[in-house]
Amino acid sequence: MKIAFFSSEVFPFAKTGGLADVAGSLPLALGEMGHKVIIFMPLYKGIECQELNDAYGHSVLSENVEIYFIRHDLFFKREYLYNMPHADYSDNTLRFSFFCKEALDLLRLLNFKPDIYHCNDWQTALIPLLLKTKAKSLKFFKNAKSVFTIHNLAFQGWTDSRKFESLGVAKELEDVLEMGGTLNFLKGAILCSDAVNTVSSTYAKEICTHEFGSNLQYILQIISSKLSGIVNGIDYNVWNPATDENISHQYKKMTIELKSQNKNSLLAEYGLKKKRNSMLLGMVTRLSRQKGIDLFLRALPKILQKHCVIVLGTGEKEYHDGLAKLKKQFPERLAVIHDYNEALSHKIYASSDLFVMPSRFEPCGLSQLISFRYGTLPLVYSTGGLKDTVKNCDENGSKGNGFVFSDYNEDDLLAALKRAEKLFRSKEIWKSICKRAMGANYSWTRSAKKYDELYKRVAG
Ligand code: ADP
Repeated sequence: MKIAFFSSEVFPFAKTGGLADVAGSLPLALGEMGHKVIIFMPLYKGIECQELNDAYGHSVLSENVEIYFIRHDLFFKREYLYNMPHADYSDNTLRFSFFCKEALDLLRLLNFKPDIYHCNDWQTALIPLLLKTKAKSLKFFKNAKSVFTIHNLAFQGWTDSRKFESLGVAKELEDVLEMGGTLNFLKGAILCSDAVNTVSSTYAKEICTHEFGSNLQYILQIISSKLSGIVNGIDYNVWNPATDENISHQYKKMTIELKSQNKNSLLAEYGLKKKRNSMLLGMVTRLSRQKGIDLFLRALPKILQKHCVIVLGTGEKEYHDGLAKLKKQFPERLAVIHDYNEALSHKIYASSDLFVMPSRFEPCGLSQLISFRYGTLPLVYSTGGLKDTVKNCDENGSKGNGFVFSDYNEDDLLAALKRAEKLFRSKEIWKSICKRAMGANYSWTRSAKKYDELYKRVAG
């Protein structure tokens, strides 16, 4: 099949979160299956490509996969992708509607007629709408089929209704975008795409409810027959403790003993001191309410009595302040790094005993899958993709690959930690759980097959 894949971020060119990981690895996995894929993303500051002209950049990524970077220096050559440290760029909907229109024009110029237009998140949400309009007047877009993946329903792309004219969408589709006096890009894509999917089965069900639906639950209920869930994979070449050059001691399942040397190096690097049986808890995350940083901060004073914690991430000021306060109280137990640092993230995945994800909601979550790969056990709240992938360890550690809490409060989080502590005291049992986690297969091969099935269903 021919697939056009649209994303506002693609690893390794630009990344703020999991979307980039997916957009960087799923197309390659599809290419390996024999599909021809063209990826489209904006040409942000600092991206280097093999070819460049005034309108776009271009690189070949593999035998079957190419990437085109849509160029508009005023829109995309900025310090950040979507927002400055404390405010979104005010012209985001304009920037990304430009991206959508240009990407479709470029497809036509390249004469690459896709069997599937695969769009991801609100930044690409106008594409399914534009296709409806274009299919009427241009033969190239006739019978175009679109798949829309929701990586996070919380980000919807809102703009003032008065801006409708500037979007270049046919007047008859205005109602499709309109929602309570504003225009909602995600709503438009959900209604106009031939299939909608999210990045885990549980999240696909959750978003149809009042609790998780972010005001789109009724729309999602209406289209539930075309809604499905496909859990993400991770790139097993990028995330591989046996070859990872970012870590001090490489290891695999059979040499998992070496993992503790990474822990010792990281503790020394950040001046952290452990006691007997203390664990290293890691976190690599956006510091946001979604990720449950408030809950974690409430539990931290108790955790830090016994264990060491390292947090890598940036985000909301109140969490920066909360962590700074605790750092003063527990200087030899807590390390906080406010940065986006790919290399350090690898070190944390490899060195930690537990990886903490108390997310309030989590569409899929990649960090728990990366943790499995590094024999690091995730401690998570039972929601979305975390519920689908992390299985609670039983009392003697003979089943399970992590620790799950189901009531959203710090006592339940601490109770899950206590269960982990108990098993951690027996090095042999702990090792066997870590090896079991490492044995899980969350490479893209499995998930790409599911996308292949979805594409075939949609293309008919
Ligand atoms: P999100 O909701 O942020 O997309 P995911 O779990 O799906 O969450 O993916 C997060 C990805 O971003 C992971 O690859 C994680 O390692 C990475 N990441 C998050 N914060 C940082 C950071 N500060 N430095 C390096 N990598 C980070």
